[in-house]
Amino acid sequence: MSIVKELRCSYCGAPIQFKPGEIIATCRYCGYTVVIETGKAFTFEHSMLLNKYNPESVEEPARDWMRSGFLKPPDLAKKARFIEKTLMYLPFWVVSAEAESTYKGVFERLNPPMVKEGKISKKYSWLVLAIKASDFPTREYDVPLEGKVPYDFRRIEEFAKVLNSEIDREEAVEIAKQQITEHHRFLAQQDVDKIIEMRNEIKVNETVYLHAPVWLVKYEYKGKVYTLWLDGASGTVIKGEIPQTKIGLF
Ligand SMILES: [Zn+2]
Repeated sequence: MSIVKELRCSYCGAPIQFKPGEIIATCRYCGYTVVIETGKAFTFEHSMLLNKYNPESVEEPARDWMRSGFLKPPDLAKKARFIEKTLMYLPFWVVSAEAESTYKGVFERLNPPMVKEGKISKKYSWLVLAIKASDFPTREYDVPLEGKVPYDFRRIEEFAKVLNSEIDREEAVEIAKQQITEHHRFLAQQDVDKIIEMRNEIKVNETVYLHAPVWLVKYEYKGKVYTLWLDGASGTVIKGEIPQTKIGLF
């Protein structure tokens, strides 16, 4: 277990707890957000998404997910037993960027191979998870940003866990740029077989610090435990483990 440290909230005086490695912390009692290293107020936009579920009602979208799709055991929704339902407000950096890539590559599927040029131009609200050790599937999370409101501690449920950021803004921007570059490389590779040259220009417009409600749900089915991540704002299952069904081997 990591050691929990404490500092006083300079707005309401309550203790703010944080763990080693955390960079930005939010007061549970008044919503004041502080940069731990300097002790000064966090000055960038801090937003949140609102959670719609409680520990009872969250079972409904989870069971709906169990009932849908072809790959699940037909009795999954009926037989699954929930053993853990934890609401967490995960910290993210949302990096708004315009990215343009130009590339030159070889299209090898033709004989003789052909040199081809192309351009990718896109706008993103790129999501960077602000905690380092987590198996949260960020790339599969289609964050419903249209529901974003200013951070309000009064809308955080008693039973919820609010996680602090371990990544500062500059680092988040760097991560976003790297991931966008990789993504564009992937897109270019759909067009040409071998990239000879690629130039990327990424213009960052805005970064927002965001707490988003995510449910970590564990359920038991036929003696085994499975995990699913559910978006508390929309009820969508972001990613879920499905019990293997044994349909004849071939
Ligand atoms: Zn406070």
